[in-house]
Amino acid sequence: MEELSRGRALGKVTAVIEESERSPMGTMKKIMQENPDIVNMSIGEANFDPPAELIDIACRLSADKVNRRSLYTSTRGLPPLRQAIARYMKKTLGADADPDENILVTVGGTEALHLAIKVLVRPGDKVLLPNPGWGALEGLMRRQGPEILYYPLRKAHAWTVDTDAVLQAMHAGVKVLVVNSPSNPTGAMVVDSAGWARIMEKAKELDIFVFSDEVYHVYTYEGPFVSAVGLDPTFENLLLIDSFSKAFAVMGWRIGYAVAHPWLIRQMDVYKETVSACTPSIAQWAFAEYLDSCDAYLEQRRAMLKDNMEKMVARLNAIPGVFCPKAQGGFYLLPDFSALEPSSVAMVEKLLRGGVATAPGAAFGSMGEGCLRLLFSQEWLDVDKAVSRIEKTLAG
Ligand code: PMP
Repeated sequence: MEELSRGRALGKVTAVIEESERSPMGTMKKIMQENPDIVNMSIGEANFDPPAELIDIACRLSADKVNRRSLYTSTRGLPPLRQAIARYMKKTLGADADPDENILVTVGGTEALHLAIKVLVRPGDKVLLPNPGWGALEGLMRRQGPEILYYPLRKAHAWTVDTDAVLQAMHAGVKVLVVNSPSNPTGAMVVDSAGWARIMEKAKELDIFVFSDEVYHVYTYEGPFVSAVGLDPTFENLLLIDSFSKAFAVMGWRIGYAVAHPWLIRQMDVYKETVSACTPSIAQWAFAEYLDSCDAYLEQRRAMLKDNMEKMVARLNAIPGVFCPKAQGGFYLLPDFSALEPSSVAMVEKLLRGGVATAPGAAFGSMGEGCLRLLFSQEWLDVDKAVSRIEKTLAG
């Protein structure tokens, strides 16, 4: 990294920026800008259009001069949106939540996690994270100074958790356990319902908070989604993180929500007041009006994603030396290329020279080494082009 000259005062600034510059996202974006022909499978975005109806509603509401939709909203989120979220949760997760007590509308799932971590995690606390897992979560945690422990997702078992190993790692000193299912970066539904029941039982016994990050839950391809919500109806030990970013392809609108015990929600609400004051107002008004009619959109996208994923898995598994488990949810695959190249960074570089940007598995933790994360949320034409380039590069 280029060394910036800085004076004495700037020399006192803790270099959090070094973290983001190490992130593969930044490097990928720079290379993509310089080479527009590269097919980008490295990013974590829903690369399809948001619902047309949602866009129409947002345009109409932002032009509404009478009701002034551009004012700050309450920090907790618009009441009609929280009511719509409670209905959406009932429909998609089969879970009950009180819109006034349990739900906080946030600036994406990222802010929900940020607030929860700020409120709950103190230096020296122990937190348990998945390996491989979403890097930003680890970054958020690390800044609070806890001791970070990991539990492995098992490549040989389609990237699911070994529940016994998680239970063993959950001891009395642990304050927070994070589970992300469907998983970024593996695409696995990492815990089954029996596993969840055992994990929540132990969490209650040992007073551990479980953060269940379910931001990809509307896109699952095999069997029903298994949510943690419902196993702890009073939210004594559970915090749900959800987001509209990926579900409705509105990453830049910055809207998500947290569901937790009223006491925790109140703490996060007070903290949020000084962090973001409120979640973007037009996004809130638009989702309040749109959310009840989202079924057809989600169904269509799910079918498109499943089709992309299945074609891609078949093609990747046909390449000698590549092993690619199917994704059960979300829109990432984490195929294993280690028989061809043990270093995921070296493999990323090789494929970049072949015209495809991917993310190195090692960026998601040691268990991801040897693997690459590939996105399958683009139009099939792009996915096809990328896979053809991978086939060609690895054959040559
Ligand atoms: N959790 C996971 C696992 C994610 O992959 C992401 C986004 N990459 C988020 C939370 C947060 O997304 P957002 O802030 O856009 O809702």
